[in-house]
Amino acid sequence: LKSILKDPELLATQAYIGGQWVDGDNGTFPVTNPARGDVLTEVADLSRAQVAGAIAQAEAAQKEWAKLTGKERAGILRRWFDLMMENAEDLGKILTAEQGKPLAEAIGEVGYGASFIEFFGEQAKRVYGETIPGHQRDKRIMVLKQPIGVAASITPWNFPNAMITRKAAPALAAGCAFVARPSEETPLSALALAVLAERAGIPAGVFNVVPSVNASEIGKEFCENPGVRKLTFTGSTQVGRILLRQAADQVMKCSMELGGNAPFIVFDDADLDAAIEGAMMCKFRNNGQTCVCANRIYVQAGVYDAFAAKLKAATEALSVGDGLADGVTTGPLINDKAVAKVQDHIADATAKGGQILTGGQPHDLGSTFFQPTIVTGVTQDMKVAQEETFGPLAPLFKFEDEDDVIAMANDTIFGLASYFYAKDLSRVYKVAEALEYGIVGVNTGIISTELGPFGGVKQSGLGREGSHHGMEDYLEMKYVCLSV
Ligand code: ADP
Repeated sequence: LKSILKDPELLATQAYIGGQWVDGDNGTFPVTNPARGDVLTEVADLSRAQVAGAIAQAEAAQKEWAKLTGKERAGILRRWFDLMMENAEDLGKILTAEQGKPLAEAIGEVGYGASFIEFFGEQAKRVYGETIPGHQRDKRIMVLKQPIGVAASITPWNFPNAMITRKAAPALAAGCAFVARPSEETPLSALALAVLAERAGIPAGVFNVVPSVNASEIGKEFCENPGVRKLTFTGSTQVGRILLRQAADQVMKCSMELGGNAPFIVFDDADLDAAIEGAMMCKFRNNGQTCVCANRIYVQAGVYDAFAAKLKAATEALSVGDGLADGVTTGPLINDKAVAKVQDHIADATAKGGQILTGGQPHDLGSTFFQPTIVTGVTQDMKVAQEETFGPLAPLFKFEDEDDVIAMANDTIFGLASYFYAKDLSRVYKVAEALEYGIVGVNTGIISTELGPFGGVKQSGLGREGSHHGMEDYLEMKYVCLSV
């Protein structure tokens, strides 16, 4: 991997704590390339005590960092953003090597990840408080917004860069210090971010990266260490529940970006070609491994056959392969377990009457590759209707009635992203308001941007990331009552 980088120093394998590069007390763990199965490199495996040390360093550094003006923090964050953009190709190669997504998509993620640093850096200047008319003649009410303290993150492997920046950027902009525990599958992108943070002049201890294979131990340290004042997590609802329970003992503030089960609804009046384009991006981007991927595609009876035929043609045009190879649109899945889940959902659907329209089989490129698949005749009793597949499986449900499809779309414990295609204006309003989701894409399959508030309702999470609302999760409000 080093040989294909313009700047080989971006491939860091030690942890970054308090401005120092350190080895792990537990030795190292391997990071593999999901496309080929080969070990890319070994990365420092930190002990729980080392993570406690990182929290202490962050606590000390945070006090000075918070004293800077918003404009000073903005300047430093801007340098970090610029460095990410200048090194986007190398960061993309590292990301593809450890995660699998096609290089163009990986470079796209780096730009997306960097956009949070740009945006929140600018927002650092706009952390406005409030004055409220007093309740008595001699009273003045002021509301200050102050950084919460040290924020700790646990993030997944599907967006190894952007899942960290969209937490770290508002944290640092607000004046918090940050301790990131990246996924054990994809620590290299996080460590490359630390290399650039150091070069950008982010003070020692303000941004720390603590790789470890032992996620649950580190999760406990984050929840039990009184130095951590905020836990921010992206991952499964199952792990989110564990962390929320653990965080309860310290009454810690938590942001949770958890699982989804996104409905993608195509009404009779939709622009079908636009719906196909949206569905392809929404379903097959990152090989179906995003928490906002279409998981259930509901198509109204009048356009069902036409939609299925077009989707089949578009799916069969995908080019599966190693993400570093030219022209590849669809990489491997992250590991064999992910492939097994796709197979399980297909087997369950076909056992209950679903039919494979295309794909359905492991890909001959290797054990982590799977054919992009469409299953038709899917119903609410199948696993795909209840659980996130997180893979290249597009299940098509046929529906007749608007109210029925809204009820089916909402029939889930999840509430992250939803999508629908329609032209009728009153339908657009009605459906957008009726979907019980934190995000609704109307006539678009891509909703992610640093400018919008991303987050879920129901068991998809707590809090919002991105937009000016994303800053609030890292700020505390202080009410000052002044008698004059
Ligand atoms: P995914 O299916 O996306 O991997 P997970 O919720 O399993 O979702 O993992 C998300 C992140 O949470 C990963 O970095 C993983 O290592 C970490 N993780 C898994 N189990 C725990 C746990 N018990 N406590 C803290 N972190 C965990």
